Amino acid sequence: MNLNKDQLRDNIHSIQNAIAQMATKHHRQSDQICLLAVSKKKPAEQIRIAFDLGQKAFGENYLQEALDKQQQLLDLDIDWHFIGPIQSNKTRDISANFSWVHSVDRVKIAKRLNDQRPAHLPPLNICLQVNIDNEPSKSGIAPEKIMELTESIMALPRLKLRGLMAIPAPKESFEEQFKTFKRVHDIMKKTPEMDTLSMGMSGDMDAAIAAGSTMVRVGTAIFGSRKSSSKV
Ligand SMILES: *Cc1c(COP(=O)(O)O)cnc(C)c1O
Repeated sequence: MNLNKDQLRDNIHSIQNAIAQMATKHHRQSDQICLLAVSKKKPAEQIRIAFDLGQKAFGENYLQEALDKQQQLLDLDIDWHFIGPIQSNKTRDISANFSWVHSVDRVKIAKRLNDQRPAHLPPLNICLQVNIDNEPSKSGIAPEKIMELTESIMALPRLKLRGLMAIPAPKESFEEQFKTFKRVHDIMKKTPEMDTLSMGMSGDMDAAIAAGSTMVRVGTAIFGSRKSSSKV
């Protein structure tokens, strides 16, 4: 299902309003919270309309799909963020075609992104994905291993370590969500070089903003459901 310009405008405005209200409630500046529009499985035309409405940062999970859309949108100055799992044979294209990667969880991948970052581009912005609830099946590094990975990445000149990304296990209450996000925040604070917390989605944005999120990742609430899409 594709949305028209009015629908996309309404959706983006409601989310921005929600972010502004949550920021005020939690004594944050709303301009310190970036809205990342997650456009996976949505066509390039939808991204183009959202961009024309002022949305500049887009998140993609699947490399080939993202490269295809980037080709169609070369005329736009989009800030592309890679937020999906990374296989080592994909690092070259990720490093050359994105300005941010949120899902780095091992040094091997970081080294490849560093070595493959084209010389004409600025250093690639990196967030470490933290498996904050220690879920066995989930991507992300265990919290106790973050310091070591942080140190390795800070030694890589073509990467700029920006912060942490987390996708916590679903929680019942604001309080539980907040406690988890606060743990991510506290880990981030141990590294003064970090300034970014990529955390919060539609269902837990309020708690994420309360705990210091600087980037919320929203897909469905902007572009509508992905269910009718052929690719899964
Ligand atoms: C898909 C995705 C989102 C957005 O999810 P929605 O439910 O569509 O808002 C956010 N973060 C990550 C890492 C994702 O893969």
